[in-house]
Amino acid sequence: MEYPIEGSCQCGQLTYKLHEKPMVVWACHCTECQKLSTSPFSVTAIIASNAIEFTGKLNEWSRTADSGNRNSAKFCPTCGNRVYHYNPEDLSTIKLKLKPSGLLDATHFEPSAHVWVSEKLSWYQIPNGAETFEKQP
Ligand SMILES: [Zn+2]
Ligand SMILES: [Zn+2]
Repeated sequence: MEYPIEGSCQCGQLTYKLHEKPMVVWACHCTECQKLSTSPFSVTAIIASNAIEFTGKLNEWSRTADSGNRNSAKFCPTCGNRVYHYNPEDLSTIKLKLKPSGLLDATHFEPSAHVWVSEKLSWYQIPNGAETFEKQP
């Protein structure tokens, strides 16, 4: 896999360049991810903040997570695509909301684990042999 790789939001206003491999990629089944992804889970890549560059405009929205941490979300003001989440008290990493079709080559970003399976939709079957966590590890 050659880095950097590029990605964009759905309308193309916002683009990004990822300079190194994500630290980890999860399929997150929590109800918040179901809402934002309009699918049973979101594919979330944990990335060192200094390994990614964004070009374009992002708006911000935040909420308090069940853990009590602030969870801020960045999204494209034009098409509304959610791009990444971060904890304003820990700026060392971001949680990039990977849209497989938003990356030029997302084939290497298969999730290594499924998290928040306690909130998983009953009709979705996790692939055999995948590592699972009831909540966030
Ligand atoms: Zn957009
Ligand atoms: Zn989630």
